[in-house]
Amino acid sequence: MAQHDLIVIGGGPGGYIAAIRAAQLGFNAACVERESRLGGTCLRVGCIPSKALLESSEKFAEAKHKLAEHGVKTTGVELDLSAMLRRKEQIVDTLCKGVEGLFRKHKIARYTGWGRLAGPGQITVTATDGGVQQLAAQHIVLASGSKPALLPGIELHSDRVGTSTEALSYPEAPQHLVVVGGGYIGLELGSVWNRLGAKVTVLEFLERILPGTDTELADEALKLFQKQGLEFRLGSRVTSARFDLAHNKCLVECAGAVAIDCDRVLVAVGRTPATQDLGLETVGIALDAKGRIPVDDHFRVIKEPQPSGSAAAPSPLTTHSPPPALYAIGDCIAGPMLAHKAEEDAVACVEGIVIGYCHVDYNLVPSVIYTHPEIGAVGKTEDQLQAEGTPYRKGTFPFRANARARTLADVEGKVKILAHQTTDRVLGVHILGPRAGDLIAEAAAAMTFGASSEDIARTCHAHPTLSEAVKEAALAVDGRTLNL
Ligand code: FAD
Ligand code: NAD
Repeated sequence: MAQHDLIVIGGGPGGYIAAIRAAQLGFNAACVERESRLGGTCLRVGCIPSKALLESSEKFAEAKHKLAEHGVKTTGVELDLSAMLRRKEQIVDTLCKGVEGLFRKHKIARYTGWGRLAGPGQITVTATDGGVQQLAAQHIVLASGSKPALLPGIELHSDRVGTSTEALSYPEAPQHLVVVGGGYIGLELGSVWNRLGAKVTVLEFLERILPGTDTELADEALKLFQKQGLEFRLGSRVTSARFDLAHNKCLVECAGAVAIDCDRVLVAVGRTPATQDLGLETVGIALDAKGRIPVDDHFRVIKEPQPSGSAAAPSPLTTHSPPPALYAIGDCIAGPMLAHKAEEDAVACVEGIVIGYCHVDYNLVPSVIYTHPEIGAVGKTEDQLQAEGTPYRKGTFPFRANARARTLADVEGKVKILAHQTTDRVLGVHILGPRAGDLIAEAAAAMTFGASSEDIARTCHAHPTLSEAVKEAALAVDGRTLNL
């Protein structure tokens, strides 16, 4: 039986980062991953391929519709979808190989197969050929990730009624793509196929898109996406979707509405933790009501499920963690299902094992939706502050008044900063606009250091940059913008 100090089950951003940090700290670390490629959902069928297609499709849309404004004439712009898909696969391949290289550099052992707990400190790994290996470790970290959520009434059928995984590789642009769910995936991949020529209809259960995003910005974004040609049917509860083989078309039904015919359906109604068949019962662990592995604030797996909505749980002094060396991180526990959150969990979990203390502030995990324009956010939304009754001041600055945005011809959107009414501490920053995903890093750093809006306003920002809109929004909190 192979013995390691620490074994991670799952080779995604949670698992591979945990293994690397453990090796850096002197552990003999190993990772069990069932797929042949390391990198998890994020690298194989998530963040990376979707961003590759978002970039390529945006270039195509620019070449067709936006370059003329810059005085660049184009004729005969054509889509070479197979080249676009090939490029995406090459990027994925390079990055997955990069993780393999990191494992070699840090001497991390890699086991390919399905990892399952077989009692405290014990794992069995079952390879696709049926071969079984027994492993033992003092510390086991579960990082099994998540998988697409499905709805009753939806019958998946190859890439005709499929999930994000299929929508990353359609062999041709659909004539009519119906997207079920107006969240992250629906809008990102809906944008990709809209730019590549598909008619895209987004069916969203709520009366708004992007639940959880600041409502003011989500409403503004909705109008921009509509202008780009995406069609939205809000308040649509999808009750069934199926492929009709006889008529070679898909049929989608919503409660109280006429059924829609289309040639492809993308189901994007959230993700559920991948926590089945991990052998949790062999160590007496039950999942919480949402199928997540319950952990305490040091990522130690605990017996009692915690109230939903937070990975944080009882105090570190809690004594009822039966298998003391079992931990869980990333999408399979509570908290936002984001790659960088999984990475934060990973580092904190492993450092917690070594130094006995760790902390991840989920309020400071930024989120980015990579549409055009992008939406970046960190901290509380205005809706949350109002619901909590927290007194705040708000500063906004539109990109149309930002010189760099003008030169880029990318002037839609705004920066919005929410600061505490009396202390001026920044409570939330929300950006809809060009490169919002990069701009939000400044806000996250400022908030991590407990900055006030005055701190951001007094920070010298280079000119002409998009980041000046962040400074101006901070000035706006105090009613003293300089360029508006
Ligand atoms: P995963 O990445 O899901 O990795 C878990 C790994 O564990 C998988 O490789 C799986 O094969 C393996 N595994 C599971 N069980 C076992 C077992 N028993 N034995 C062996 N191996 C096992 N997040 C962002 O932050 N930014 C984005 O832009 C972004 N875009 C996304 C786009 C799409 C289309 C999707 C689907 C997701 C996106 N996400 C994005 C979310 C992001 O991919 C996840 O939050 C992230 O991958 C979670 O990391 P993880 O390590 O917890 O799990
Ligand atoms: P989501 O939670 O972002 O959105 C799901 C949407 O589906 C919601 O708006 C919900 O109201 C709607 N919905 C649910 N049931 C419905 C029904 N019956 N009919 C119509 N609409 C319905 O989920 P997603 O878009 O599938 O993405 C999953 C997760 O993956 C995200 O929450 C995020 O954590 C991660 N992700 C992140 C990024 C990024 O960081 N840029 C990109 C893609 C995915």
